Amino acid sequence: MAQRFDVTFWGVRGSIACPGADTMRYGGNTACLEIRCGERLVILDGGTGMRLLGLALDHGGKVDADLLFTHTHFDHICGLPFFSTVYDPKNRFRLWAGHLLPDHTLRYVLSEMMMAPLFPIPITVFGAEMEFHDFHAGETLQLGDRIVARTAPLNHPNGATGYRIEYAGKSICYVTDTEHVPGKPDANVLGLIRDADLVIYDSTYTDAQFAKHVGWGHSTWEEGARLCDAAHARQLVIFHHDPAHDDEFMDGIRAAAEKARPGTIVAHEGLTLTP
Ligand SMILES: [Zn+2]
Ligand SMILES: [Zn+2]
Repeated sequence: MAQRFDVTFWGVRGSIACPGADTMRYGGNTACLEIRCGERLVILDGGTGMRLLGLALDHGGKVDADLLFTHTHFDHICGLPFFSTVYDPKNRFRLWAGHLLPDHTLRYVLSEMMMAPLFPIPITVFGAEMEFHDFHAGETLQLGDRIVARTAPLNHPNGATGYRIEYAGKSICYVTDTEHVPGKPDANVLGLIRDADLVIYDSTYTDAQFAKHVGWGHSTWEEGARLCDAAHARQLVIFHHDPAHDDEFMDGIRAAAEKARPGTIVAHEGLTLTP
């Protein structure tokens, strides 16, 4: 148990939730990941998938977790008020963001999301103990119990933070949302994912679709494969699927990615991976 290290996907979509008959197999919820490091829990992002994580956690005992946000675009935070676990006074959370200083703080931005007339109840109704931490992307976070979160700034409108969680000699990288410049691999991303075991990467588009979306802040699975090759990372995980990509389209990406970089995985809701 002390050495357990794995990641479970509760939401794999980008931009907006897209439940429906055509997205049932890969899932329609937006970004939320659960990482288990021994007895410790680290949560990455609070998209709509977070509601399901809450239902699962409420079956267990007291929850004490770190919640790391890549950034505060709506698809990554809108699940927080529907995360039942934050209403229980016996639970404790440390919330982290690396893209807001010096103009904003995480507490301020999350409070704004839940402010009238946008939302019926204010953030002060959360019963759990909530600690808010702002840092500068690039800093390394020591989360305790030998859990290290290295970070790097990503190329995204309003900023975003990439994470590399290290535990028990293994590493899981979470690199979303970020846009690449064709032919110019992002040095910050390369540094973060160097020799990593698992790289979860913003694969909103395909290379063929990318030209029409320059400036939108996202990348492609092909760029993810090129970055993993260049950084000698082991396994690529395709993530932050475009809501327009139905199950059939995602099957096509899975087949193409398996050919291009054998062992590549397309994330789907409910998937658990061990690095
Ligand atoms: Zn997003
Ligand atoms: Zn975003």
